[in-house]
Amino acid sequence: MRVLKFGGSSLASAERFRQVADIIKEKSTESNLAVVVSAPQGVTNHLVAMAENISDEAKLVTDLGHFKRAITTIIEDLSASINNFNHQHCEQALTNYEHQLERYMQGATMLSYCPDHIRARIISTGERLSVAILDAVLQASGLQVSLISPEKFLFTNDSSLNAVADLVLSKEKFAKQYDKLSSVALMPGFIGVNAESSSENPEVTTLGRNGSDYSAAVLAVCAEAQCCEIWTDVDGVYNADPRMIKEAKLLDYLSYQEAMELSYFGASVLHPKTIGPIAQYHIPCLIKNTSNPAAPGTLISNESDQQKRVKAISNLDDLTMVNVSGPGMKGMVGMASRVFATMSRENISLVLISQSSSEYCISFCIYSRDAERAKQSLQEEFELELLNGLLEPVVLQDNLSIVSLVGDGMHHQRGVAAKFFSSLAQARVNVVAIAQDSSERSISVVIEQRKCTDAMKVSHQNFFSHKPTIDVFLVGCGVVGSELIAQISRQQASLKEQNIALKVYGLANSKGMVFDKNGIELDNWQAAMEQGIEEGKAVPVTVENLKAFVRDNHLINPVFVDSTSNEALAMSYVDYLAEGFHVVTPNKKANTDSWQYYQALREAAQQTNRRFLYETTVGAGLPVIDTLQSLIKAGDELQRFEGILSGSLSYIFGKLDEGMALSEATAIAKENGFTEPDPRDDLSGMDVARKLLIMAREAGMQLELSDITIESVLPNDFDASGDVSEFMANLSKIDGAFSERIAKAKAEGKVLRYIGNIIDGKCQVAIEAVGPEHPLYSIKDGENALAIHSRYYQPLPFVLRGYGAGAAVTAAGVFGDLLRTLAWEQQH
Ligand code: ADP
Ligand code: ASP
Ligand code: MG
Repeated sequence: MRVLKFGGSSLASAERFRQVADIIKEKSTESNLAVVVSAPQGVTNHLVAMAENISDEAKLVTDLGHFKRAITTIIEDLSASINNFNHQHCEQALTNYEHQLERYMQGATMLSYCPDHIRARIISTGERLSVAILDAVLQASGLQVSLISPEKFLFTNDSSLNAVADLVLSKEKFAKQYDKLSSVALMPGFIGVNAESSSENPEVTTLGRNGSDYSAAVLAVCAEAQCCEIWTDVDGVYNADPRMIKEAKLLDYLSYQEAMELSYFGASVLHPKTIGPIAQYHIPCLIKNTSNPAAPGTLISNESDQQKRVKAISNLDDLTMVNVSGPGMKGMVGMASRVFATMSRENISLVLISQSSSEYCISFCIYSRDAERAKQSLQEEFELELLNGLLEPVVLQDNLSIVSLVGDGMHHQRGVAAKFFSSLAQARVNVVAIAQDSSERSISVVIEQRKCTDAMKVSHQNFFSHKPTIDVFLVGCGVVGSELIAQISRQQASLKEQNIALKVYGLANSKGMVFDKNGIELDNWQAAMEQGIEEGKAVPVTVENLKAFVRDNHLINPVFVDSTSNEALAMSYVDYLAEGFHVVTPNKKANTDSWQYYQALREAAQQTNRRFLYETTVGAGLPVIDTLQSLIKAGDELQRFEGILSGSLSYIFGKLDEGMALSEATAIAKENGFTEPDPRDDLSGMDVARKLLIMAREAGMQLELSDITIESVLPNDFDASGDVSEFMANLSKIDGAFSERIAKAKAEGKVLRYIGNIIDGKCQVAIEAVGPEHPLYSIKDGENALAIHSRYYQPLPFVLRGYGAGAAVTAAGVFGDLLRTLAWEQQH
């Protein structure tokens, strides 16, 4: 004999009823079956609402209407699709139960109160109707079906709404009542009978919401079934709630203990009380999908999958933490027992308990629906202690969740808790309380509910999927920005191979940012942006707007990429870092603002464990910053530096060697995207000065931009005003003066180079004439060269050389920084 239980999701429509009937028919050829059914999905909720709204007639009528419509739709659809379906029998059953409900309602309305045993009858009506309907479907297909009545054997305690079965008594009664069952027997789930009520007037109890799983387990024990099958709407038990975690993986096996912990801590695929009976009687339990019967499902038994130490992660929401504390707690024998006795008297179940080692405080989690009652009763119990100041007022902390990590093998493994807590830190989750069961089968943390999804996502990523995400918000779709998008798009296949999910969720130009919660389609980003802007969906780029998007979509590794040269934006990095964004940028403005802001950025990054990455601010894609940081971390010191730090000026000065005029060389460099959007930033020396300052600060020098001596390419008396095109047009005025200077150098066998120097703690940017013996003599065509003289690298310097400008290398550098945001996972 096998017990099969079909949940509400498996009975949500006529089609589902037919699928269920097919499964029963097929299985009945192999074994006798006892089938337990829930109410069709949603029906119990309508019934519960009715029992709660007895004083509100309008609401009652609406709820009754919803209830009737749900059942009628199923009956009508079945009648239309199945020959010989006994429509009338089902209609009659519905009418009878409807009248019964009306009578209960009338009685309750008269009393202005609905006693729990009546409430139990009301809310379990859906299960009875499921039996009537499924009976008709099975009969229509020629199966002979008998009925099992839970009132005749499933004896429970007197808790009408969350009853616990008396297994020994139930087993005994079942054996007497049902010594021989037909090949298919049907029983409504969720329902029991109070063992203390009289047999003439049995008091119906219910086994708690979602309790039909438990009915099936009890029936499996009573009928000595060889297997208890729970048929639902997923392929089995996953290593996290698949509604919340898309990457959740199906588990083939679970031990009873693991299943018990998981269901207790929120895996709603199984009611928490289900496992107890079947574990006690060693009955295997199979979780199967009604819509996919071919899938093997998850087997819960004495066996466990030894390979996986940590099996799954679960979450339980809507909890409140109760804190009872005060000097009177310390060493006072019996305080804890009084606290817990009070809860037990009130029938409030404790989900998790933690006590501080100082005995000063007892904290425990309960379901939020019980919170006020708990507080009230504790205040009554400890009235005197509260009055005398031995206890502080009872404090409730609402809107909490528990996240639990479960696995039999966890106690063999070191570092599980560390990894769990570092995952929580990565998700920026604050831990309110911690509990670990003594068998080390589960570790649970209490956290704020609003952070639950984030905590689940990061923990799942780090323990199971190992698929880190990079969630990009890109501001600036100019030369570098658009090249970056193209590179990300091109690299998708390779990223996938490396198991990295990199998506661009927001893109902004000067009109604002357009979001897409599924990630912007990168092959078609221009159209997506245009459409977003046209439809008025572009929002200003503000920390608040981006933060709201990240929060609503539970993104856990958000990266703010600034690919503009905007100063105001650079001044907001500190806010992005403080709100949990990494910041990646080729924009030099932030690092060259005041020393104070420079420090503030680093502090913000450190405090939130986020990264501020700016490799491309010096030498574009060349690994300058990272190399310098590594050297300095390893104890090296920068002693002297010289370099050509501007790709555009390297290009322009190279062209001057060949005899080209300054204005022409600048125009070509601009066209090729080597210069900043405004070439004055390059020619004024400002851009090089900023790079030099970044290098100097990286080396530990506390300097400001104003400390740098700059020789501009543009003479002092040159009028550099106007917009970019006016400036470009004016530039030819200094061509002549430049040719003279070049000719003079040439006469000495030298060339002009624009060089940044750091010597003796001083920074200087100047045009220098250098001969062939100088390392920077041959640097042109947009190349950069950086010579680092350090304590370790001397007398010969460490030299980095390569293209230091251009969209491709800069974007590649930014891309590299994006990937560095994953360093967290490698480090923890
Ligand atoms: P039924 O109507 O069959 O009783 P439930 O809705 O009670 O179904 O339980 C099935 C649901 O449990 C799934 O649809 C899934 O969303 C949820 N669930 C939560 N945690 C898990 C988990 N770890 N594995 C599988 N399902 C889970
Ligand atoms: N129908 C009941 C509920 O919705 C019992 C169950 O589905 O298991 O809670
Ligand atoms: Mg269920």
